[in-house]
Amino acid sequence: MRPLHARISLPALAHNLAVARRRAPQAKTLAVIKANGYGHGMLRVAEALKEAEGFAVLALDEALALRRAGYRQKLLLLEGFFEAGELPPLAENCIATVVHGEWQVHALERAKLALPVEVFLKFNSGMNRLGFRPGQIAEMLARLRACPMVGNVTLMSHFATADDANGIAWQQDVVARLYREFQLPGSFANSAAILRYPEAHADWVRPGIMLYGSSPFADRSAEELGLQPVMTLESRLIAVQELQPGDRLGYGALFVADKPTRVGIVACGYADGYPRHAATGTPIQVNGQRTRTLGRVSMDMLFADITDIPAAGVGSPVVLWGEGVPVDEVAASAGTISYELLCALAPRVPVSEG
Ligand SMILES: *Cc1c(COP(=O)(O)O)cnc(C)c1O
Repeated sequence: MRPLHARISLPALAHNLAVARRRAPQAKTLAVIKANGYGHGMLRVAEALKEAEGFAVLALDEALALRRAGYRQKLLLLEGFFEAGELPPLAENCIATVVHGEWQVHALERAKLALPVEVFLKFNSGMNRLGFRPGQIAEMLARLRACPMVGNVTLMSHFATADDANGIAWQQDVVARLYREFQLPGSFANSAAILRYPEAHADWVRPGIMLYGSSPFADRSAEELGLQPVMTLESRLIAVQELQPGDRLGYGALFVADKPTRVGIVACGYADGYPRHAATGTPIQVNGQRTRTLGRVSMDMLFADITDIPAAGVGSPVVLWGEGVPVDEVAASAGTISYELLCALAPRVPVSEG
């Protein structure tokens, strides 16, 4: 069997949830498990995070799968329903929906449902992606309140720069004003805002990436934040090459040896979700020792420098990311963020728990 697999630590998920809850002790938690639990497996992740008061997902079928699996927590569709026909199953299964556009209000006004639907009314506080303008909220709220098919309403918004040096002040002013003005429960904070901006915690926090053991910040490591890696992508060396000075390596001959170099061929490539743009020098662990990748990532293989790991040979264990190699560092080396790597784990990679 090909040695590549992803190991998911359920205790690490529970630990990271506890970190989020400690950082926002007054708020309830909507654990964000969209995108197949950020690539970790939605139902697997839900089980490990079952202490959360709720789960946030993208689409109706995910919420229905959670209900079918027996989860009774609050469930929220982060972009709301995509067509009015989704409202009856939402109502019947007590699934809360974001309402970010006028057509959704209109659909609720016309809906005939067995039970009222809980709404997270989303306003645009500056990101200009989804949501009503702050000045529209009073009117939308009045319409929703007049609507017999609408139950509890929570105010919601999303920060664009909670993870970087811009901070949230430019959005938090309007968030705080609306939260005060309408006296509704509020939900504003993603992982970065949970960790850095207590003033934005309000009533329901929405941690995503931190639950999976990654840092939302470029300037703070997951370890510094007390988070534990959840997914460890592991493989083995399937061959070794001894390069002489001047020898080339891999597609494009991107790497050229300037001295005798031992190269381990790792069973993992971009078809597994490893980023092809990870440059020479990306951290990787072989035989428990940290080293670097070399050359260009192939579809099914990549190269590790084992010149300074003499004990390494065919069969030696390799960690691509996870315990020992922060996924955030691999992502940075590929010019992206850990979210993308985790979500892009290929279906062909077997996943185990442990
Ligand atoms: C994905 C998402 C989150 C979680 O964000 P993280 O940065 O992963 O913590 C929170 N809120 C909304 C609306 C989202 O789409």
